[in-house]
Amino acid sequence: MRAAADTVSLPVYRGATPDPKAATRDAVAVLRRGLVPIVEIFYSLQGEGSRAGQATVFVRVAGCTLACSFCDTDFRVRREMAVDEIAGEVLDYGCPWVCLTGGEPTMYDLQALCDRLHGHGLRLQVETNGQHPRPDWDLDHITVSPKESEGGRLHPWYLDHATEFKYVVDSDQDVRRAMANPTAGRPGGPLLYLQPNALNPDAARLCVEAIKADPGRFRLSLQTHKILNIP
Ligand code: SF4
Repeated sequence: MRAAADTVSLPVYRGATPDPKAATRDAVAVLRRGLVPIVEIFYSLQGEGSRAGQATVFVRVAGCTLACSFCDTDFRVRREMAVDEIAGEVLDYGCPWVCLTGGEPTMYDLQALCDRLHGHGLRLQVETNGQHPRPDWDLDHITVSPKESEGGRLHPWYLDHATEFKYVVDSDQDVRRAMANPTAGRPGGPLLYLQPNALNPDAARLCVEAIKADPGRFRLSLQTHKILNIP
């Protein structure tokens, strides 16, 4: 039986995937057939965090370990692709940066895909909720958005390997979660970002107040792709 302290009361799901559990089951079934479950591959600018503004090819993998109430991504499977097929499509864009995003890319073993992309000289970013460490992927940029308030658990491997942490802020509780990150203030440690939940008009104020109250600890991350109305 789980201890009471382990029980997480999850917020009501308002996310973009109609049935997130079914979407994840479908995605895992694709992987078991030897293919990668993909939502989309597209070329745009990275919109968030310290790489904001850099041209990037996004490989959005289907399925997720969580079903966050505020999730703005529809992570149902749209394409079933072989590693070679994904690499070929990514290379066609001629962009040096690739971002593996989701859904939750680290829930699968994508080392073969990472090796193939690195072998072509590309640089790899991953966007993850931080539940599954992936030391074998040789990543160039690791963006972790911990989701404890949605039932997620941050794996400690990320405390030493994340490039940046990005906390989606909906309430004071989220600011406190960010403040509790043990890397906060560590010299040479990862960057810490507060990012307002776009669905909550009060969230930007919470972020700005927290950053001003503790200067030097946090930075603001905005979803600039949404402001620019690009993918
Ligand atoms: S971890 Fe990310 S992709 Fe998964 S449900 Fe939460 S917000 Fe959506």
